[in-house]
Amino acid sequence: MTHDGVNGHPAPTGRVAAVVPAAGSGVRLGAGIPKAFVELGGETMLERCVAGLLASGVVDDVVAVVPEDRVQEAERLLAPLRVGDHVVVVTVGGAERTDSVRNGLAALTTARAGAPGAGTDRPAVPGAAVATTGYDVLLVHDAARCLTPAEPIRRVVAAVRSGEVAVVPVVPVVDTVKQVDADAYVVGTPDRATLRGVQTPQGFDPDTLLAAYDAAGDAATDDAGLVERLGRRVATVDGAALAFKVTTAEDRMRAEFQLLSERSLAEGPQTMTFGWQLYRPETDSEPPRAPQEDQ
Ligand code: C5P
Repeated sequence: MTHDGVNGHPAPTGRVAAVVPAAGSGVRLGAGIPKAFVELGGETMLERCVAGLLASGVVDDVVAVVPEDRVQEAERLLAPLRVGDHVVVVTVGGAERTDSVRNGLAALTTARAGAPGAGTDRPAVPGAAVATTGYDVLLVHDAARCLTPAEPIRRVVAAVRSGEVAVVPVVPVVDTVKQVDADAYVVGTPDRATLRGVQTPQGFDPDTLLAAYDAAGDAATDDAGLVERLGRRVATVDGAALAFKVTTAEDRMRAEFQLLSERSLAEGPQTMTFGWQLYRPETDSEPPRAPQEDQ
């Protein structure tokens, strides 16, 4: 079932919490530091992601899940976002994304219980306590989708509030997709009209998400996949082009261009310095050197 997002939904009652897995190493991005701590337009992806969730106006609390050696840095970066009655906590991730989300769900329980320093310790296995702390909706949102606009976030929350147990934002698939075998020979061509690219935030009724994680044996690339394994129905809402995942250096450049054009619209023309220069071995005697900072 596809929702248009707003019309006819019941008035919100309980709170909405988002778990932000941000503990990936970012090997494919090649920045040499964990991806969520890479800066885009002067702010880390983690800050942008959490700020974007809170700015949507439909998210109350956030748990950021980060590498063990980045907890203090994340605390410092996210401290300014603890405004009003928003609870923003940081916890430690795991080896796989699934482990990180699981830790985030457990930290959420502790955070809402109001324990001092909640969320900074390695948490226990998540249990039904989250559902009893007053959350209507749990979201899981990749830090790497840090430019996600408010609209798809609102659509996902509204669809869960309207009674769906699991909701994913989706975009049409523009390429024809082939299924291949272990030797990379094509074995099938699914009808493109029935395919969707899946983004985050994915939204859930809390009991359903916790049951899915309790039942999850192995890793999954998306949270709704775990709900599907329970045989529960997953609804779709429209995603957004800007909710793309920053995975490669090209994605990072796309994100930088986007931020630069937004700043240009707001403040006038901007300039951008790239971290590479052309080098022609046949005519250039030596590779270009990095520009020196002005003294
Ligand atoms: O690796 P990929 O881009 O699919 O990761 C999606 C999100 O999951 C990223 O925001 C990443 O930081 C997070 N992640 C995590 N813990 C892991 C692996 C990935 O929190 N062990």
